Amino acid sequence: MITLRLSTLKRMRTGELGYWWRSLGGPPPARPPLGGPAQADVVIVGAGYTGLWTAYYLKRARPALEIVVLERERAGFGASGRNGGWVSGFFSGPARVYERRGGRAAYAALQRAMFDTVDEIAAVLTEHRIDADFVKSGRLRVALDGGQAERLRRELAQSRAHGLIEDDLCELSAEALAGRVRVEGARGATFSPHVARVHPAKLLAGLAATVERLGVSIYEDTPVSAIGPHEALTPAGSVRARWVVRTTEGYTASLRGLKRALVPMNSSMIVTEPLAAAAWEEIGWSGHEVLGDGAHVFVYLQRTEDGRIAIGGRGVPYRFGSRTDGSGETAARTVASLRARLGAMFPPAADAAIEHAWSGVLGVPRDWCVSVAADPDSGLAWAGGYVGEGLAAANLAARMLRDLVLDEGDALAALPWVGRRPRRWEPEPLRWAMIHSVYSLYRHADRVERRTQRPSRLGGLVDAASGRA
Ligand SMILES: Cc1cc2nc3c(=O)[nH]c(=O)nc-3n(C[C@H](O)[C@H](O)[C@H](O)COP(=O)(O)OP(=O)(O)OC[C@H]3O[C@@H](n4cnc5c(N)ncnc54)[C@H](O)[C@@H]3O)c2cc1C
Repeated sequence: MITLRLSTLKRMRTGELGYWWRSLGGPPPARPPLGGPAQADVVIVGAGYTGLWTAYYLKRARPALEIVVLERERAGFGASGRNGGWVSGFFSGPARVYERRGGRAAYAALQRAMFDTVDEIAAVLTEHRIDADFVKSGRLRVALDGGQAERLRRELAQSRAHGLIEDDLCELSAEALAGRVRVEGARGATFSPHVARVHPAKLLAGLAATVERLGVSIYEDTPVSAIGPHEALTPAGSVRARWVVRTTEGYTASLRGLKRALVPMNSSMIVTEPLAAAAWEEIGWSGHEVLGDGAHVFVYLQRTEDGRIAIGGRGVPYRFGSRTDGSGETAARTVASLRARLGAMFPPAADAAIEHAWSGVLGVPRDWCVSVAADPDSGLAWAGGYVGEGLAAANLAARMLRDLVLDEGDALAALPWVGRRPRRWEPEPLRWAMIHSVYSLYRHADRVERRTQRPSRLGGLVDAASGRA
């Protein structure tokens, strides 16, 4: 049973937009809603990373374009303001799905494009002087038991078959890991340099301010109820445009006709108070690598610039009927479970107060793979389905959208995210039952691995049955 010392929770807040916005004193002042019907060259629905990067690259390529971004709540209200801050060169979905579109070479090219994307983001941040606590220090995936160790080794072997070399992804012994960061009970880890850490809300706020400086109009409190050819419908009237770009990710199910396109999967996070210097001395982690474990129901962590640990995980995986919970309030049992996993990995942080807990939704397509598409006839375009790996992917997807909308630059448009149409999710109650079963079975597989110290066959079967692998 999980017990929590009261002192670790007494100052905790749950819900709202999460710690990242609070650390900036809240989101910037609200932008006005759309005042009435409008016309533009491009209208973008959703002001998260995908929408804002798309506006950015289109405006950079064609400064004369009239670009309007419509946001139901506030820019960064969605996953883009609430995430774990891993700017990862890796992406969601099984290789076999992408390899159907262009074979191994296309998949390898996509992987390289994603690795380059981490540097592309760094370059834009430097050019526009956006301070987002960006550090490209790599990713550690830590094996906490024998099962995780074996699975990480298998993944490493598979990555070699897909062209990754030692410099892209390598194995670290328990001793080598401890030289970077001391994780209790770790059996070793894999390391990749192609991942950076960022403060998600600083990135979002800096990007929004940059696109506004370039001349893009962002309207907040402007819900779009329907998207049709060359048109987005709002309470203030319709916005007509040559292109209508949908970037609504985990919230897509609320749009007419798109109920089963992407499911909103929940992810929850907690953040500690700043740890004392003595605790950091024991833990190490001076490199600020992002860090996760190798469990099926994994956790992801970052050491923040101001000396806290932020840790996230799945929590309650999904709400019936693809409901999304705007306030981000997080179940007590999810907070307790994240707290317990943090304390088990980092005993010197076990007594640290938890200052904030929050949740958000990410968009999951039925085949767990990203897609980007644009239809010149209807003018409808969209990108998303990043599952939990959207920070860097949104940037690459936005550059693909730019090329498709402007009908130029064949290289990115040839990559296997482009032009896919994943099949729809099952109707309820099947959808709810499937997703909850998948996560109960994964949790069971993790318990089996802790007990037996070997990879669970069940985990592999669930991967295959759910389409995740
Ligand atoms: C807790 C959590 C942790 C995560 N951690 C990581 C991580 O560490 N690394 C990583 O790579 N990814 C992570 N992700 C995923 C990542 O944050 C997302 O993939 C990414 O932010 C998606 O960006 P987006 O712009 O496509 O969607 P969002 O940021 O969700 O933006 C969509 C926007 O559309 C708006 N909208 C929706 N419907 C409408 C409508 N009808 N009208 C107008 N506006 C609308 C929403 O209000 C929202 O602002 C995490 C996600 C969560 C929830």
